[in-house]
Amino acid sequence: MAETKQSKPAVKKAATAESKLARLGLRTDMDLVLHLPMRYEDETEVISIREACLRGGHVSQVEGIVTSNEITYKPRRQFIVHIADDTGELQLRFMNFYGSQVKQMAEGTRVRARGELKHGFFGAEMVHPAYKIVTEGAPLPTSLTPVYPSGEGLSQAVLRRSIAEAMRRVDWTDTLPAALRERLHLQPFEPAIRLLHYPPHDVNEHELEERSHPAWTRMKFDELLAQQLSLKRAQQSRRQKGAAPLHAIGSLSAAFQAVLPFQLTKAQQRVLDEIRTDLRQQYPMQRLLQGDVGSGKTVVAALAAAQAIDSGFQAALMAPTEILAEQHFRKIAAWMEPLGVQVAWLTGSLKKKDKQAAVELVESGAARLVIGTHALIQDTVQFDRLGLVIVDEQHRFGVGQRLTLRNKGADGLVPHQLMMSATPIPRTLAMTYYADLEVSVIDELPPGRTPIVTRVIDQNRRDEVIERVHAAALEGRQVYWVCPLIEESEALQLQTATETYETLAAALPDLRVGLVHGRLKPAEKQVVMDAFTAAEVHVLVATTVIEVGVDVPNASLMVIEHAERFGLSQLHQLRGRVGRGSAASVCLLLYQSPLGPIAKQRLMTMRETTDGFEIARRDLEIRGPGEFLGARQSGQAMLRFADLETDGWLVDQARDLAHALLHDELPGSAAIVAAHLERWLGGKEEFLKV
Ligand code: ADP
Ligand code: MG
Repeated sequence: MAETKQSKPAVKKAATAESKLARLGLRTDMDLVLHLPMRYEDETEVISIREACLRGGHVSQVEGIVTSNEITYKPRRQFIVHIADDTGELQLRFMNFYGSQVKQMAEGTRVRARGELKHGFFGAEMVHPAYKIVTEGAPLPTSLTPVYPSGEGLSQAVLRRSIAEAMRRVDWTDTLPAALRERLHLQPFEPAIRLLHYPPHDVNEHELEERSHPAWTRMKFDELLAQQLSLKRAQQSRRQKGAAPLHAIGSLSAAFQAVLPFQLTKAQQRVLDEIRTDLRQQYPMQRLLQGDVGSGKTVVAALAAAQAIDSGFQAALMAPTEILAEQHFRKIAAWMEPLGVQVAWLTGSLKKKDKQAAVELVESGAARLVIGTHALIQDTVQFDRLGLVIVDEQHRFGVGQRLTLRNKGADGLVPHQLMMSATPIPRTLAMTYYADLEVSVIDELPPGRTPIVTRVIDQNRRDEVIERVHAAALEGRQVYWVCPLIEESEALQLQTATETYETLAAALPDLRVGLVHGRLKPAEKQVVMDAFTAAEVHVLVATTVIEVGVDVPNASLMVIEHAERFGLSQLHQLRGRVGRGSAASVCLLLYQSPLGPIAKQRLMTMRETTDGFEIARRDLEIRGPGEFLGARQSGQAMLRFADLETDGWLVDQARDLAHALLHDELPGSAAIVAAHLERWLGGKEEFLKV
């Protein structure tokens, strides 16, 4: 009902409407045209008041003559209108209304009203119906009425009008030639868009709602194609940049592999080969190394660094937290320094003097490897000859941070990049959002690990759990006790951790209990972690600072309090701190009942599987890709229509077509690419070039 007067007045000033539209990202005509309805209202039918009463409880549209109207004040100010047709009578009730509405609905006026019909104390009524004043026989709309995603203060009426106007102005040229559309069974663009904005009343509403209608399929395909094209093009343009080929797999690599106390797993060897091949190229590697917690990514990263060093270049490893960076540093320095490689340590918390010393080591080239946090990318850090950048837990870094590291390459060349992630990315997600990266997967754990048994336990059995901790510690096993996550307040979280520590220390007087949390100074943290590593501490009470990177193989029992507050991937990361040695490991998830449905689903998932990919898949189901991808996605809403759960088959098709177009395999490829990207991304492509 384009002219419907809802209780709110229509937005008057065009300028304000424009800025409100802009806030929704609707700037150009094509933006508006691609702003598709989230649902529809059916105003194509008027039924008699009697029939509406019989249907009851449903939304229906009726038409009648106003027989009376009045403003009442009991129980509160409201406007009551009675309308009647040949079959019956109906009350319309408005709690918020304007004087103009009262005048408008004078006795004898013909009103078309649409709303949910209820049987109240005063008979049949509609509360706050949408309505309009009509003349007898006024035509009904022939298409369903679109309801658009909107923002604050932006009425449907304004959106509908703006979109309708934009539809009259845009260039409708299809970006895909007819032959191509036919081959892919895709609808032409214009009719598909028109159908989605104004579906004829006989449309298959189910298909429309489920977004399985061919018109939706066309939109999904188009946006997936735009995504594939832009990511692949970003990848191509990166390939045109030069990188120093890291040819040598020399004495350091060999010596390193010789001193490793274990054999690489097949999976580690495979991804190492992939990386080694990439590093020899004259264009920068952009590889994502995925592997579940504990799969052994660090050693692969160190071997990649060895190749850079053997080739006469420096390597840098950046981790998102100090504790994780420190773990890498200790481990890798212990491997490398005996082989004569100086490893620099650089974080924000270093004393000025120490930092200066580290920066000098990096600048002079004395340090061939530098490990640290994002302090590494500060302007003050100049590399002597940077050839390889390794970023751990890459999704925690913003686009900008990775960009800065990329600009620190030797001789104006771009360093090779290896990004690591312990959050396995489901296939469809990797194929879409990471289409610009090469992906290597370590899909095998080192031998000798025993599976972790996970139990879900009600918090009120905490005493039994403490008993179990006691028994385990007496057997010489070490225990992590993870404190509840309190997202709202870091202070409260700290307080809870301290209290937990005190209660446990009191309950377990014969054991040594330690505490580690985010507010400790790095040096203090290290003292605690060292004591735990050396098995001097039996029970380590910890906040989520231990989520990543902590590696103490003798720890085989983990208790997580208020597990229902954690996300799935966080639980998986935490649990990955045990099960690293040969002892059978146990993870106890304490929860506070009653559990909500999502929390229940998460805990069940944790109990059922330790497979990171399966967990990631279910996590994606629960959370959707936006949250899953973290920083990479900020500022981009690339997939609005396609749903990776159900539209995987379209992803394959879009990817194949993008490949063909970018390799100029179809007539007019370049023009198609340009037109399609312009239509779907406009100026928004720059984001992807990182
Ligand atoms: P990730 O970073 O992938 O979570 P790490 O690199 O920290 O895993 O490795 C986990 C543990 O497994 C470390 O103690 C590491 O030394 C050990 N490890 C790595 N590769 C192997 C292997 N091939 N055989 C035995 N142990 C290994
Ligand atoms: Mg790791």
